[in-house]
Amino acid sequence: MPVAPQESALTEHAASHLATPGPILLLGAPGAGKGTQAKILMAAWSVPQISTGDILRNLRNDPAQASTQLGKQVRATMDSGKLVSDALVEQLVLDRLAKKDTARGYILDGFPRTLAQATWLDYQLARQQDLASGIASQLPVIAVMVQVSYTTLMRRTTGRRMCPSCSRTYNMFFQPPQQDTVCDVDGVVLAQRPDDSEVVFAERLRTYDSLTAPVVEHYRAQGRFAEVDGEQAMDAVTTSVMAAIVRLRS
Ligand code: AMP
Repeated sequence: MPVAPQESALTEHAASHLATPGPILLLGAPGAGKGTQAKILMAAWSVPQISTGDILRNLRNDPAQASTQLGKQVRATMDSGKLVSDALVEQLVLDRLAKKDTARGYILDGFPRTLAQATWLDYQLARQQDLASGIASQLPVIAVMVQVSYTTLMRRTTGRRMCPSCSRTYNMFFQPPQQDTVCDVDGVVLAQRPDDSEVVFAERLRTYDSLTAPVVEHYRAQGRFAEVDGEQAMDAVTTSVMAAIVRLRS
């Protein structure tokens, strides 16, 4: 996603305050804006965004995986709004963290999503500190929770549409296309992510409340935790998230 001019001023400011961001977790319900904020942070600090949702969607949409047991399982689980197994996601995260671009830090978006994943991550990070590889491994993890009301989550998610041809994104509530449900640019009928339908989204929220909400408490109890108001305008959310990260690292 390209970074707007007003955002680049913010990102430059934050980048000059924090040379080594280290491991950062973005927590929040589906539709809270974690992905959008993670991409801005990635540009600010030149560290990767690691989104388990994106990694799994790539796997789900990979034609080579379409007929495999794994591909079918991931597709069925994601399309139902439930979580894929801890073991699978943990392996995907482990493989991703092993890449060299995580040496100065990384933004984990959508992971951990269960207490078991959080405990696993604590263990892996402690182990990495022993092994003393990249600079990021010497820093403790910090967690920022983006808090958004149920009504806003519902509108942001179930309203989300994308043009399958040019990838332009819309929201039927906040940023609708000029005509019905077709793309302003090329007139192609807009598509909805299967897991953004109202029924599946309601299931994703139930999953979040029962399995992921305890993860927030886990990091709150560890202390290196901040909560920001995700209902604000996007720039204001970015400012709050960056200020929280700089504060937690100081
Ligand atoms: P997201 O784009 O982050 O909302 O993720 C989309 C879907 O991917 C979720 O509804 C889950 O089915 C799956 N997923 C993403 N991250 C995880 C995770 N950490 N653990 C289990 N399943 C996940």
